[in-house]
Order: sequence, then C-alpha cells, then structure tokens
Amino acid sequence: MAKRILITGAAGFLGSHLCDRFIKEGYHVIGMDNLITGDIRNIEHLFPLSSFEFYHHDVSKFIHVPGELDYILHFASPASPIDYLKIPIQTLKVGAMGTHNCLGLARAKNARILVASTSEIYGDPLVHPQKEEYWGNVNPVGPRGVYDEAKRYMEAITMAYHTFHQVETRIIRIFNTYGPRMRLNDGRALPAFIGQALRGEDLTVFGDGSQTRSFCYVDDLVEGIYRLLMSDYDQPVNIGNPNEISLKDFAEEVLKLTGSAVKIIYKPLPVDDPKQRKPDITKAKEILGWEPKVDRAEGLKATYEYFKSLPKEELFKQPK
Ligand code: NAD
Repeated sequence: MAKRILITGAAGFLGSHLCDRFIKEGYHVIGMDNLITGDIRNIEHLFPLSSFEFYHHDVSKFIHVPGELDYILHFASPASPIDYLKIPIQTLKVGAMGTHNCLGLARAKNARILVASTSEIYGDPLVHPQKEEYWGNVNPVGPRGVYDEAKRYMEAITMAYHTFHQVETRIIRIFNTYGPRMRLNDGRALPAFIGQALRGEDLTVFGDGSQTRSFCYVDDLVEGIYRLLMSDYDQPVNIGNPNEISLKDFAEEVLKLTGSAVKIIYKPLPVDDPKQRKPDITKAKEILGWEPKVDRAEGLKATYEYFKSLPKEELFKQPK
C-alpha cells in the first residue's frame, strides 16, 4: 500500500512543489491549507489524481485526518515579510498552535514529522556563515519578531515532543528559496525585481544594496527536504545555497536576464533587515550527502519564464 503523507501549506510555493515530489515518489498525499497566502492554482493539476486529497483547513485549529499517516510535513505559515507583517497574530498562531496540532497528530498516528524552520531564527546574525550551533540574534519585539519567534518556538516544541513523547522529528532551517509559483507581489527581492522589470519599472534596492542574500532553487530544496525526512537525524539542518550575492549585483543580473532598459533606484532599508545571510551547509553535505545543483543563471531563467507565462493582470495584482 502507498505510504501516506500530510503536507500542510500545500497550496503555497514550497508546499505545492512538495506535493508534486511525493506524488511522483508514489505516495498518497493529503494536502492541507487555509489559503491565507497560498493559491489553489498551485495544486489544481493534482485534483484529478486518486493519490491526492485536499483539506481546506486552518492548522491552528484541531486537525482531524482519517486513516493512517506515515509522514507529516508542516509547511503552513505565512513566509514573506509582506504577509507576516500584515497577519502577525495568525503567523504566531500557526507557528505555535499549528505546530502543536501537527505534533499531536504525529504522536497519535505514530508518524514522522518534519517542520519547516527558517534562517530567520538566526535573526540579524553576528556569525557568518551561520552554522546550526549558532543561537541567533533576534529582536523579539521588532516587526520581524512575530515570524522569527514563532519559528524558534516551533523548534523548541518540536524538540520537546521528540524528547518527552519520542515522536520522530526532523527540523529543517530553510534559507531563501526561489522558483516557479512564488508570488510576484510577495515582497521578496527576486519576484519584486522580476515583476518591476516585466512592468517596465525601475528596480528598487533597499539600503545601498551591499546586503547579501543566497538563493536556493526550489528543486534543490525539495531534494534536501526529501533526504532529511528519510534520514535518521533529529537535530536542525540548514538547507540553502551558500553562493552569496549582494542585492545590487543581483538586481543587475535580473536586468541582464530580462533585457530591460530600466534603472536601479535606492530606498531606505526596512527595520531589522538582515545584512548578511549565508548558510553553512557542512551538516547537509556530511549527513544527507546534499548540496545545491542548480546554478543561479539556470534557476533564474526558469523562474523568469514562469512569471512571463502568467496572465498580464497578475503583474499588477496587489498583495492579498
Ligand atoms: P507560502 O506563503 O507560499 O506558503 C505557505 C502556505 O501555508 C500557504 O499556502 C498558506 O495559505 C498556508 N497557511 C498559512 N497559515 C495556515 C494555517 N493556519 N492553516 C493552513 N494553511 C496555512 O510560503 P512558502 O514560501 O511556501 O513557505 C512555506 C514554509 O516554508 C513556511 O513555513 C515558511 O516559513 C518556510 N520557509 C520558506 C522559505 C522560502 O524561502 N520560501 C524560507 C524559510 C522558511
């Protein structure tokens, strides 16, 4: 019989790619989402399959899934600053109560659970690159605190269920990921730049553009998640692409790719914007035999083609 996996946040950017991957691996996939930031179109192609079910449900409320479960991937959470600054309480609730509900379900079903943590738990890091042993530099009462602290709590309760209830848990710390099905207007640098280029607007860089980011292509991330879930390693693992680039250089790459004649303009840096972000992926390499394979030029092109293929009105859509 096919193994059964519950994926929360299934209609989101990462959740939908995970649904595709586990369907491809022959699993019975149960997708769950309340569509607060996700888009049902990301998983519509799976609806005709008997190996896919969808529950429209808020995971911060009690979760009931009939039948057995082998695995749970807890990916439900607003993920981009534009979202979690608009819905801060829901963000805290899904990190806290949503995770608690998923862990309770994992315990009841005797399922292995992997939770989606983030590089944001390192805050504005004082150590560079960030190893899993680094405890972070987070401002709990700053605007980003709602997301960062929700995810830190998520890790703590996940470890507690592992230690006190012997639940099989996995924690992934995801660094900036990009690819098809990101939202153009989610406020992140990559879709923002591509959206501006497609609309013929100048590209906005915040600060002087010297702050760095490292972008991991979604297929590489999904492979890392798959390997961690199948591994027997229960401590947090960074998954990301250590190939760092300044936002200014990145904006120039986007201009070159899109052939756009617009300029780069500079605006003040938002509060608590991290200056540097780069994963140390030694653990992922040693424990999972994982490292990113897709280079930025290739990944960026695939993402640009996806955004270009969207209906024109999507380019001008305001955030939800
Ligand atoms: P996304 O917004 O595209 O997807 C999140 C999904 O969760 C959406 O479909 C949303 O509707 C759903 N959701 C939110 N709250 C919910 C709730 N209470 N009940 C049910 N569904 C709910 O974001 P994403 O980029 O796909 O991120 C997915 C996960 O990965 C998040 O947990 C995020 O924190 C984590 N993550 C993402 C990145 C990244 O670069 N994309 C980086 C680090 C961590």
